[in-house]
Amino acid sequence: MLAFCGIDCSNCPVYRATMTNDEILKRETAEKWGREFGFVLEKSEMTCTGCRSEILFKLCFDCPFKECCSKKGIDNCGQCAEYPCQTLERFLRPIPEARANLDEIHRKFHGGTL
Ligand code: SF4
Ligand code: SF4
Repeated sequence: MLAFCGIDCSNCPVYRATMTNDEILKRETAEKWGREFGFVLEKSEMTCTGCRSEILFKLCFDCPFKECCSKKGIDNCGQCAEYPCQTLERFLRPIPEARANLDEIHRKFHGGTL
């Protein structure tokens, strides 16, 4: 279940915790992401049923990549002719697995090397 930004939502701890009602994983992820992102996250906020669903984790709610892909009529940033734009490049830096997902899609759609 690939998000617009290349993250595989099915591997996301918020998604997994939501789908399995795992309150411990929600708490641990709230603490971990809170430390990494530098703000307070509550366990009660750690609910998401995936990037393309109606129930979204708050940090994925106002997603610039979703908006941009939707305007271009593409499924994800890997399909974009401008891939990777600067905003996406910065976002992907700490998430190499998402970058790899999009690189592969981009090669399939546009060929060549990045
Ligand atoms: S949209 Fe939800 S499942 Fe996907 S990466 Fe964001 S928080 Fe995780
Ligand atoms: S310009 Fe392309 S790569 Fe950048 S956010 Fe928009 S769709 Fe994604």
